[in-house]
Amino acid sequence: ACVSPIDGKTLANIALCKTAEANKAVKCAREVFDQGLWSKASPVKRKAILLKFADLIEQHSEDFALLETLDMGKPISDAINVDIPGALRSFRWSAEAIDKIYDEVAPTSDNELGLVTREAVGVVAAIVPWNFPLVMASWKLGPALASGNSVILKPSEKSPLTAIKLAALAQEAGIPDGVFNVLPGYGHEVGKALALHNDIDTLVFTGSTAIAKQLMIYAGESNMKRVWTEAGGKSPNIVFADAPNLDEAAQAAAGAICFNQGEVCTAGSRLLVEASIKDEFINKVKAAMQHWQPGNPLDPNTNVGAIVDSTQHERVLAYVEKGKNQQATLCCGGNKTQPVAGGFYIEPTMFSNVDNKMAIASDEIFGPVLSVITFNGMDEAIAIANDTPYGLAAGIWTKDLSKAHKMAKAVRAGSVWVNQWDGGDMTAPFGGFKQSGNGRDKSLHAFNKYTEVKATWIKL
Ligand code: NAD
Repeated sequence: ACVSPIDGKTLANIALCKTAEANKAVKCAREVFDQGLWSKASPVKRKAILLKFADLIEQHSEDFALLETLDMGKPISDAINVDIPGALRSFRWSAEAIDKIYDEVAPTSDNELGLVTREAVGVVAAIVPWNFPLVMASWKLGPALASGNSVILKPSEKSPLTAIKLAALAQEAGIPDGVFNVLPGYGHEVGKALALHNDIDTLVFTGSTAIAKQLMIYAGESNMKRVWTEAGGKSPNIVFADAPNLDEAAQAAAGAICFNQGEVCTAGSRLLVEASIKDEFINKVKAAMQHWQPGNPLDPNTNVGAIVDSTQHERVLAYVEKGKNQQATLCCGGNKTQPVAGGFYIEPTMFSNVDNKMAIASDEIFGPVLSVITFNGMDEAIAIANDTPYGLAAGIWTKDLSKAHKMAKAVRAGSVWVNQWDGGDMTAPFGGFKQSGNGRDKSLHAFNKYTEVKATWIKL
């Protein structure tokens, strides 16, 4: 049963794929890869079909946005303005890139030729989460399909609807049958079957760090398939007293934890504030958070929607209780609310006087719960920022150019934002240091995941 978090009602019953379906999909994906219908098609042909695919997605963009909102509870205006354009950009950018990437000739002696070529890896399984279902899928599908691979997409059991619609349009766009497969189902069933399958060449994943580690074990227990993970985060947003504009920084800090209900891998969930501006800045953030309040996700004016399901709802509320029990100071929020009867909603919440060792500062909560930690000077800010197993993103607010550069270098994170939060585009790589994952989505770097490098030596 696919349940909408908006009101707790069942939207539809979805096929529950298991090992048998995984085996069938891998067989189809392998056969078509070996036949070469897609894998050996010219890059320019794959590009044309993927651009048509993107056009079809765009034509159905309102349907996709509605499905995403109904399925996982995000505000409809975000689905329309963020998710759908983000997915389109990934498909179009990857399609456009594929006939512009050249192979290499090695600098050899005169009597031989060394060719360094990239080829599609073969069958790719993509396992994705529920917080940005279509965007996370498209960050994998764009470069994976453009490179000529066959792909099996396993959406989260909590948000399968847009993936299923995507499959129907892929067929209409002319992607050959078997090249793109969608297997809805549970992670511990069909996800595990894919991760353990001996005929999958590459497994790409976005989701929690715990499952990312499990997938690496599955790969080791089976065929050593390549495993690329985009995992969790507990990102520090560091505000110095010399930030160029404290009001702007406060608004960004509020948005960094409230956007998408805080269900964002790069949520700015640890707000590190220089001690001298602590009270002033907390008041500004508190005021800014009043503009982020849960409402009906289908109302275009809503900016905080529903928490994805009852399990996640309870989990986030349990962390609020942990914060209170560990003597952090509750500054605002912390309650469940119900703008739509039967749905799962939580008021954006801020705790101050948080120690970095407390559970609310160390664990990824994946909800709208902000922990404010104070520091004195750069060294302490760096020590606290890096005192986490994660390394996905970090924000730095200062008008001192030298301090900004030193901090950006010192923070162990895949994305660093100076005087802004959440910058990004297909033109730049996205991914994590440490236990936030390996490899990168987006940009030309993403193609490394979907291609093997071959060296061919020819005696002349
Ligand atoms: P999750 O790890 O619970 O699930 C992710 C996917 O893995 C789902 O499709 C799930 O069905 C599948 N899965 C679960 N158990 C499995 C198993 N044993 N074998 C194979 N597959 C299995 O994560 P989630 O709750 O869906 O998403 C939230 C997490 O995703 C957060 O940790 C968040 O930080 C992370 N995330 C990371 C990024 C990034 O780019 N780094 C982006 C978005 C979300």
